[in-house]
Amino acid sequence: MDKHREKNLQLPLNIVSKDIGYDVITRSNVNYNNCYHCRCCAGGCPFFQAMDYAPHGIIRLLQLHLYEQALKSSTIWICVGCNTCSAVCPMSIDMSAIMDALRQIALEQNIKVAQPSTLKFHTEVLNSIQRYGRTHKLEIMLRYKVKTMDFFSDMDVGIKMLTKRKLDLMPSKIEDMEAIKKIFKPEE
Ligand code: SF4
Ligand code: SF4
Repeated sequence: MDKHREKNLQLPLNIVSKDIGYDVITRSNVNYNNCYHCRCCAGGCPFFQAMDYAPHGIIRLLQLHLYEQALKSSTIWICVGCNTCSAVCPMSIDMSAIMDALRQIALEQNIKVAQPSTLKFHTEVLNSIQRYGRTHKLEIMLRYKVKTMDFFSDMDVGIKMLTKRKLDLMPSKIEDMEAIKKIFKPEE
């Protein structure tokens, strides 16, 4: 780790080891305490309007040790990890890494997921990668529809994509499936 990065990760005194804030910092490799709330992240986030807290609002909750609110927020599930916010952040805060860490902790702690359909979608994408080494979009969409029992919304988009041949009918596997198996192998 370079010296600048190491300094950036020095923990503030008000974070005690083993608390959730420390966990977020170690998982994400981001010291969110460097955020000074300029709000540039919110200004650039394409999903800001759909979130219950703005991206920097999640950081504020963490800074105030209001972890439960952060873990229960819809924001952590609505964030798509596009990194638009990180690109404009003057403190180079990797927001999507923070959101990833919060999602992991929320699942491990059985926190009620604020956007269950998002989790279902994520799960189907991962299942597809585990099966084929790449995503098979049509299968992901069909499985997601069955899981959510929502068969008709976005139907027009799906038909358009099919007619424009944007969706492969049959899945195809990558050659090196052994590498994929290793990625998904549970830690011992
Ligand atoms: S852009 Fe960076 S410093 Fe500014 S509020 Fe967002 S995370 Fe904080
Ligand atoms: S990474 Fe998440 S919070 Fe940042 S701009 Fe993209 S959707 Fe918004």
